[in-house]
Amino acid sequence: MKFAENKIVKEGRLINNDILKVDSFLNHQIDIKFAKKVGKFFASHFKNIDKILTIETSGIAFAITTASEMNDIPVVFAKKSKSKIVDVNSSYITVIKSFTRGISSEVIVDKKYLKKNERILIVDDFLAEGNAAIGLIDLCKQAQAVPAGVACVVEKTFQGGRKKLENMGIKVIAGAAIKEFKDGKVIF
Ligand code: 5GP
Repeated sequence: MKFAENKIVKEGRLINNDILKVDSFLNHQIDIKFAKKVGKFFASHFKNIDKILTIETSGIAFAITTASEMNDIPVVFAKKSKSKIVDVNSSYITVIKSFTRGISSEVIVDKKYLKKNERILIVDDFLAEGNAAIGLIDLCKQAQAVPAGVACVVEKTFQGGRKKLENMGIKVIAGAAIKEFKDGKVIF
């Protein structure tokens, strides 16, 4: 059993048979011991990373615990743009469809914080259809940085994100891999 699976069994709650609610340790309250464990686990799978890229909000805590296991490398979080006036000259911009909200929105990173040839580890809370990770990879590519892998706390394998990323040649690591939701239960 992967280490994050125990936590999901104890504290996770299923919504509409496709969303897992894990507010008690990941999406609302953060369990720091757990987040540190995630950081150690992610860091043990990747070498020579220059920077971590995540997306606000829930990926940030896990990006930080991972970075602190990687010699305190910088963490950059892509911002969900709230303004219609984004400076296209100073920002990399991509559009990401939110799995939980169903809407697409612009996500930006200032060009100062992603540089050519930097090896970037992408960290997020969940991997579902892969839209968030693919958007973050797009931002890396715009900067001519190198997406070195994707690390997510929880992966829902049946929603296809891992397959898309692996087809792009991206290494994927997950703290828990959910195969399906069946009769209100999580099957790993
Ligand atoms: P994807 O872009 O891979 O389809 O979905 C990943 C994003 O959607 C994550 O950043 C996460 O915020 C959200 N997400 C996807 N599935 C779930 C889920 O089952 N539970 C929660 N809490 N968030 C999810």
